[in-house]
Amino acid sequence: MLGFPRNVGWIEVICGSMFSGKTEELIRRLKRAQIAQLKVQIFKPRLDDRYDTSRICSHSDQRLESVAIERAEEILRLLKPDTQVVGIDEVQFLGPEVVAVCELLAQKGLRIICAGLDQDYLGKPFEPMPQLLAIAEYITKELAICVVCGNPANRSQRIISDSARVVVGAAGAYEARCRKCFVPEPVEATAPQNLRLL
Ligand SMILES: [Zn+2]
Repeated sequence: MLGFPRNVGWIEVICGSMFSGKTEELIRRLKRAQIAQLKVQIFKPRLDDRYDTSRICSHSDQRLESVAIERAEEILRLLKPDTQVVGIDEVQFLGPEVVAVCELLAQKGLRIICAGLDQDYLGKPFEPMPQLLAIAEYITKELAICVVCGNPANRSQRIISDSARVVVGAAGAYEARCRKCFVPEPVEATAPQNLRLL
């Protein structure tokens, strides 16, 4: 982004596969907003308790304080009157209501920065990311590195058997793969654990 719009709200979406650095980029932007003396509030869905329920954390262990919520509407209730920037991590878990919530906040003049998975483990669009991407002013698609061939990767390969759409909190349950190496069903891991977490 070259500059910030003035006197108007907007929505930024950072999307990508697992291990693509979405949360790291979200944290980077939110920290810069804090340095700029802006009032920042950060939310994340409660079901994602991988590392810490009250913080957002990247795989490289960057972290920021956040509020865990069950439903998107809670953002409106918990919003402080002087908040200027709202960060939301793992936004794909907050359901279709989060689209209207983001729209409302942007309409009120706030800057909204959302990070989330754009595809599920089958390689299908992860609702409501398509809707969020459509209404956002700024979109960043992060890419991971395919652990099989080293190409840029935009898919999350599941490497354990589970029929849930996302296996939450299972750091060893996925690895990043490109479209050539991705198969839409659980497979054996190809990379050592520490490589998959990069
Ligand atoms: Zn590959």
